[in-house]
Amino acid sequence: MNIVQNFVSPFKYNIKCPYPMTPEFIVVHNTANDASAKNEIAYMISNNNQVSFHYAVDDKEIVQGIPENRNAWHAGDGGSGPGNRRGIAIEICYSLSGGQRFIEAEKLAAKFIAYKLKEKGWGIDRVKKHQDFSGKYCPHRTLDMGWQRFLNMVKSELDKLKGGATVAEKNVPSSWAKGAWEWAKKEGLLDGTRPKDNLTREELAVVLKRLADKK
Ligand SMILES: [Zn+2]
Repeated sequence: MNIVQNFVSPFKYNIKCPYPMTPEFIVVHNTANDASAKNEIAYMISNNNQVSFHYAVDDKEIVQGIPENRNAWHAGDGGSGPGNRRGIAIEICYSLSGGQRFIEAEKLAAKFIAYKLKEKGWGIDRVKKHQDFSGKYCPHRTLDMGWQRFLNMVKSELDKLKGGATVAEKNVPSSWAKGAWEWAKKEGLLDGTRPKDNLTREELAVVLKRLADKK
């Protein structure tokens, strides 16, 4: 997934992202503005307001302004609130006027959030909205159009990412490996299960021992 980075200067960490953070969930926002992701991030990192967010997503791209291992000020739940201290903030652009650009920005945001969930091994329960933390009606347009609808978009993107091979396909060796796989099974070096799984060091040691014992 292509992410454009335009990070805030470390000289502004004290204003924008003062605390180290181990993220635990994603917090979804709408910008309530009509600027592009690039411009939202450029403005956020250049001003001196205690307002910040990790990512902005528009219809074309994802732009990052704060590293994920720093907190950001976006959730309205104070200096030690869980939203501000443990959430990755994602702003969806063009929500002021809405229209096709916003529809596309939401789609890209759903894809991006699914990608983040997969990367971190998180479930859909890790997707929160700004409203969960401070009661502010944000992400306003996403809420107007239906929060569950948006979660379903993320879920279907996540299913696509997780999908890939079906269970049946995973139990069949690839065509290029079939000969060697059958040989290893026949020789008793491998037990003939889980052809697509990773090999651990201890499993390799067992295979090497079996091979050595044959001689
Ligand atoms: Zn918000």
